[in-house]
Amino acid sequence: MADVPAECNIKVLCRFRPLNQSEIVRGDQFIPKFQGDDTVVGRSYSFDRVFPTNTTQEQVYNTCAKQIVKDVLFGYNGTIFAYGQTSSGKTHTMEGKLHDPHQMGIIPRIAEDIFNHIFAMDENLEFHIKVSYFEIYMDKIRDLLDVTKTNLSVHEDKNRVPYVKGCTERFVSSPDEVMDVIDEGKANRHVAVTNMNEHSSRSHSIFLINIKQEHVETEQKLCGKLYLVDLAGSEKVSKTGAAGAVLDEAKNINKSLSALGNVISALAEGTKTHVPYRDSKMTRILQDSLGGNCRTTMFICCSPSSYNDAETKSTLMFGQRAK
Ligand code: ADP
Ligand code: MG
Repeated sequence: MADVPAECNIKVLCRFRPLNQSEIVRGDQFIPKFQGDDTVVGRSYSFDRVFPTNTTQEQVYNTCAKQIVKDVLFGYNGTIFAYGQTSSGKTHTMEGKLHDPHQMGIIPRIAEDIFNHIFAMDENLEFHIKVSYFEIYMDKIRDLLDVTKTNLSVHEDKNRVPYVKGCTERFVSSPDEVMDVIDEGKANRHVAVTNMNEHSSRSHSIFLINIKQEHVETEQKLCGKLYLVDLAGSEKVSKTGAAGAVLDEAKNINKSLSALGNVISALAEGTKTHVPYRDSKMTRILQDSLGGNCRTTMFICCSPSSYNDAETKSTLMFGQRAK
């Protein structure tokens, strides 16, 4: 597979998972029809790339994330999102099986790639890499590396760059250390909630990699950061079935996902003078890593099953708005 061309800074990639066992048993139909490597036939949704179900984790990584890592090491900021209904493959795409070399997803591959690049770079460059891991649930920011921090706020630094104030930052010096941080954050997340699957479908999880480099002789500095975002499930809660807390959660998710959609489509249009970053915590945090010179990639994750056809259509529409 060739690299996705680099001229546009917002890329929308669509990935379909295979039918799963219970869908097969139920007799669901496999719906999507692919045409070329960028089109889903139906209403003819076209993206920068469409990954059919047999695409490997390595192919996905090489086609779209590998270049972002290089760019971040050159001082660009970037964001990679996974959008889609629950069980559509967001976490599979972003994390995959963390300790399995074939099945690992984008984040562990990025961790390996960063250090491979660094070892091959000028010896006079000194690197400081730190990572944070937090989630946004019901508009509250919770530190996944310090369970005592359950409601962090967004501030701006002296350059007016938004950041999550007080969020734990861990310095890392190898891919294994990055993996340890992810494992720790995931373990904390499990402890804090009773049903992890439900919880992860209702919160956005955000992994931040911050890279600073300094030339030891010239003292020239370069910074780049990369946000890796596994979004809350985009499924609509049925209007009649939900009430109380579930309905509040659903409204909240809906609001934050549409705020994100509005920002991305304003950026994609390119002509808008106003980009509504301030409409949600997430878009505020991501403000200096979305659009402009930043590398933004949105994965649109889809189920192929006839059972999910309506959700899949609405997911594809969301992705299409960003084009
Ligand atoms: P989400 O995070 O969107 O809720 P998951 O990533 O957890 O969904 O995927 C749901 C299930 O489907 C998992 O068991 C996952 O391993 C599997 N799966 C998702 N995408 C793929 C894929 N492209 N190939 C094979 N299995 C997949
Ligand atoms: Mg998930």
